[in-house]
Amino acid sequence: MSSPCPICGKPVVLTFRPFCSKRCADVDLQRWLSDRYVVPGTDEDEENPPSTDVARE
Ligand SMILES: [Zn+2]
Repeated sequence: MSSPCPICGKPVVLTFRPFCSKRCADVDLQRWLSDRYVVPGTDEDEENPPSTDVARE
């Protein structure tokens, strides 16, 4: 009934819900954190022009 650990797919242990272990919880946390870090929108444009002056009026 309860969904398996999203990291490794093993049965979830109550103590570490929704993960099966501290390790998987850590893995997910790392994933989440690095996601947050990468997100800011620059994937592969290294030549993004500084568009600081948007004031057009
Ligand atoms: Zn796991």
